Parts: sequence; structure tokens; C-alpha cells
Amino acid sequence: MISQPPLTTLADGVHLWSPTPSTGWGLANCGLIVSPDGEAAWVDTPYDRRMALDFLERSRTLLPAGGRIGRVIVTHANGDHLWGAEVLPDDPEVVATREALGHIAWEPAPRQLHALVHGGDPETPLGWYLKRHFGRFDWSATDVVEPTLTFTGELDLRIGQVPVQLFALPSAHTTGDLIAYLPRQRVAFTGDVIFASGPEDPGDHPVHWAGPLGQVIAACERVLATGAEIIVPGHGPVLGPEGVRAHIRYLEHLRDRAHELHSTGVPALDAARALIAENTFPLLGLAERMVITVATEYRHLEGAADGPDILAVMADLAQVAWERRDMTVAD
Ligand SMILES: [Zn+2]
Repeated sequence: MISQPPLTTLADGVHLWSPTPSTGWGLANCGLIVSPDGEAAWVDTPYDRRMALDFLERSRTLLPAGGRIGRVIVTHANGDHLWGAEVLPDDPEVVATREALGHIAWEPAPRQLHALVHGGDPETPLGWYLKRHFGRFDWSATDVVEPTLTFTGELDLRIGQVPVQLFALPSAHTTGDLIAYLPRQRVAFTGDVIFASGPEDPGDHPVHWAGPLGQVIAACERVLATGAEIIVPGHGPVLGPEGVRAHIRYLEHLRDRAHELHSTGVPALDAARALIAENTFPLLGLAERMVITVATEYRHLEGAADGPDILAVMADLAQVAWERRDMTVAD
């Protein structure tokens, strides 16, 4: 069961909405930026309507009289960071990279995913996996709100009196990631180039769709280069710079092992099975996600021009999770 605690204040005018627990597919961190003049913005949105309405209700308690959430900054176009935008009234400006706009067409639409999750056969690995991990969400009446302001490179915004710098990243977690940095508060929202873990919140293995991992690592280094002291990952607990450096070491290990296994002729799916068996990071959940991240890395090593077939890689991931289902704890 997911519960939502009140918003946490990270810095002056910067607040965090984070589901508890934060582990599991689709439970992303979202930010609220409030300027003293009443202008406000979200950084990312929850995955479905129920959670987004909760975030909206809690956000309103922090707005000055007459305040409004006039913008949504979308760190990337995975549904768990964008699909909740439909609950915001008054047609907010939705800001994303140009490539994130293109990514929307690649991902299943919300109603399509809803039908797959709730209409799939639970006796098959994919049907079982989707129901188990996505069955808590409801997109039966959700439409994607498309970005209305897109950019490449860098974009300086002001949320009322609060400056926000956006940095578009080369292909990393998806094609179209960005970092949102608040220089006055030294807070960075990184989206899913970081999946964090901490002592009280062990977190999950990352899943990277676009890659390669070298560019995910470069994206983490770009986060550090902003000078941020408070770093809000896409999922998991808020970090300081040292936590980002620890995450870079995880990514380097995964990249190096994937390259070794590739160089010895091990196929991608078996390489992921080998990495899961090695269990180098035993506290992290959703080890089967390495199926996708390793497949992504192999695509780059083999010079593939196209992105993955999302349902095909999810079916491989579900197959590996199915093989391990007696070893994982039930929800
Ligand atoms: Zn995410």
C-alpha cells in the first residue's frame, strides 16, 4: 500500500512530494517550487490521477493567496514523471526537452498500458509481472499532456522570483533527459539519471532505456558540476554529492561487467542473468531491471541505430523475474 506523507521542505520555496515507500516501479519524486509572489511550478508529476490529485491538494496548502501552479518542468517523458499533469487546471506551460516530446510517441499511451496491465494473462510472465508491479495504478481515463515549451541545450526560467536553469542531456536514461537546477537554493532535480539508495531507503536497481551507461555516468557528473548540495533523484532518497559519487561507482561497475561479458560472447539476456546472480548490490530491489539496462548497453556496443522495442524488452525482463519468483518476497 502506498501512502503519501506531507510535502517535505528541502530549501527556501522548494518542496518534495515522495511516495512511501519509494521503491517499486512508477513511484517517482516530484518537486514543488513556490515563489513569494505566488507563481509556482511542479518538477515532474506523479504517475496516475489519484497520486497527482494528492500532490495537487498538498501543493495548494503551500501557495500564497491567489497563487497558481503555472508550469510543469518534465525531467523526461516516462509516464511516471509526466502523466499526472492532466490534473492541473488552467493549462499550465509544460516544459521539456525537444527529444522528450519525441519520446512520448515511443512509450505506450496511458489507456493502452492500462489495458495491458489489467487485461493481460497473469499465467504468462509479462501478464504476471505487469499486474504485480503496475496493477496499483489507474490510467483508464488518462491522456498525456504534451509539452508546450521545448528546448535544446540550456534554458533559463524564472518561476516568479526563483531562477531555474535547465540543462538538456545527451541520450542517457531516455532520449530527452534534463537536469533542473535552482542556483540560489543549490538544489538539483535529476530525473532518472539517478536512482538513489540510502541507509533507510535501499532503493531499486536503475533501469536505463536509451544509454549508453557512459552517458548516464556523464549525466551524473553534470549534476555534480552544477554545484548542487541537495540532489533530488528521480526515485529514492534525496542525496548529497557523495551519494551521487557512490551511484557513479555502481554505474561504472555495471558498465564494466557488461562490457566484459559482451567481449567474451555472452548474449545480453545471459549477461543480465549472470549479473543478477553475482548480487553485488544485495540491498537494491528489482534486480531484473538489469535485463533492460544490459540490453541497452549491448545495443550500443553492437552499433544498433534504433531504440529498443519496449514490449520485447519488458517481456525479457518479466521472463527473468518469473524464473526468480520463488526467491523474491511477495508485495
Ligand atoms: Zn521514473
